[in-house]
Amino acid sequence: MSLALAERPQIDALSSIRTYVQSELPPLVDAIDKGQIYPADFMRGLGAQGAFNGHADISKPDLNRSIDAMAEVSEVCGASGFMAWCQAALVWYIANTDNDVLKSKLLAKTASAQILGGTGLSNPMKSFFGIEKMKLKGKRVEGGYVVNGSLPWVSNLGPDHYFGTICDLDGGQTMMFVANCADPALKLLDCDAFLAMDGTGTYGLQFKDVFIPDALVLAHDAAPFVKKIRAGFILLQAGMATGIIRDCINLMQRTKSQLGHVNSYLTAQQPEDFAAILDTLDTEVRTLAATPYEESQSYWRRVVTVRLEAGDATMAAAHATMLHTGARGYMMSHRAQRRMREAYFVGIVTPATKQLRKMLAEMPA
Ligand SMILES: Cc1cc2nc3c(=O)[nH]c(=O)nc-3n(C[C@H](O)[C@H](O)[C@H](O)COP(=O)(O)OP(=O)(O)OC[C@H]3O[C@@H](n4cnc5c(N)ncnc54)[C@H](O)[C@@H]3O)c2cc1C
Repeated sequence: MSLALAERPQIDALSSIRTYVQSELPPLVDAIDKGQIYPADFMRGLGAQGAFNGHADISKPDLNRSIDAMAEVSEVCGASGFMAWCQAALVWYIANTDNDVLKSKLLAKTASAQILGGTGLSNPMKSFFGIEKMKLKGKRVEGGYVVNGSLPWVSNLGPDHYFGTICDLDGGQTMMFVANCADPALKLLDCDAFLAMDGTGTYGLQFKDVFIPDALVLAHDAAPFVKKIRAGFILLQAGMATGIIRDCINLMQRTKSQLGHVNSYLTAQQPEDFAAILDTLDTEVRTLAATPYEESQSYWRRVVTVRLEAGDATMAAAHATMLHTGARGYMMSHRAQRRMREAYFVGIVTPATKQLRKMLAEMPA
C-alpha cells in the first residue's frame, strides 16, 4: 500500500507525458519524418512535462523514468524518440560532472529542456574501441582549451543549442566538454538527406579554434568519466527500441482481422513473439538501469548485450511488420515503412550493431 502511494507521482508523471505526446506529436510526425520541421517547441514541452529530469539527480538517478518517457515518444515517432535520447544523454553528462560551475549553469535548464542539445560521442566511442581516430584535437591554453576538427553528424541541434563531446589532447589524454552552438568559431553545416531522422536537427560540426572555457569542461580527463557514464548512455537508448517495437506490435495486431488467416504463416514473427521479446528486454533494461554506476565486467557485458538485442529486436519487429502489413505497409502513406526506416537507425546509431559485436568479441570472459 505504502509502495503504491510512493510510486504514484512517477506514474502520474508518465501518464501526463503520454497525454502530452499523444496530443502534440501525431500532427507533427509526417513533417518531422520528411525533414520539413525540427520540433523545438515539442521538445521543450516534453522537458516541461519532466521527460528528461528522471536521471538528473545523481544521488538517486532514475534512468527508467527517462527511458519510459522516451518510449512514449518513440511509439509515435522514432526521430523524436532519438531527439529525446540526445537531450537525455546531454543531461546525463552534465549531471555527472564534478564541475559545479557547469552544473549550475546548465543542469536545470537542460533537464527541463529550456536549453536543448545533444551529444557528439559517436566518434570518441568508436575511437575508444579502436574503430576510428579521434576527429577533434584540443590544446590547453589559459583558462580553457582551444579545439579544432570536425564531427560528421550531431543531432538535436540549432543555433542556441549545446552538446557534449570529447577531444584528443597532446600526450594521449582526452578531455570531455560541452560546446555552445552559438559560438561563431563553431559552424553547423547542413547534411545530405537521410533515410529517416531528417527532422532531428542533425548537422555536421566544424570547430575552428573554438575556445572551450574551463566552465564548460565536463572532465579534464575523459576516460574515467566515460567509464562512469557509459552504461547510462547506452541503457537510455532502450527507450527508442521499446517505443518502436510497441508500435510494430500494434500494427501487426491490427492486420489480424483481415489477414490473420495468412499472416499466421509468418512463423516466429507474430506480435505475441515480439511482445515476449520486449518483455524480456524490458525486464533486463529495468534491472540494469537501476544501478548505472556498477563497475563489474559482468554488468558491462549485460549492458552491451541488451543494447545489441534491443537493436536486433527493433529491426526484426519492423521487418515482420512490413511482412504483416504487405502492400498497405509498402505505401508511403502507411507508417509501417517509416517504422522500418526508423528501426534501422537503432541498429546503426553508436554503438552500432557491428561495434557492439566487436566489443563483445573483445571483452574478457
Ligand atoms: C541521422 C543521423 C544522426 C546522427 N546523430 C548523431 C549524433 O547526434 N551524435 C553523434 O555522435 N553521432 C551521430 N550520428 C552518427 C551515428 O551515431 C553513427 O556513428 C553512424 O550512424 C555511423 O556509425 P557506424 O558505426 O555504422 O560507422 P560507419 O558508417 O561504419 O563509419 C562512420 C565513419 O565513416 C565516415 N563517413 C561515412 N560516410 C560519411 C559521410 N557521408 N560523411 C562523412 N563521413 C562519413 C566518417 O568518418 C564516420 O565517422 C548520426 C548518424 C545519422 C545517420
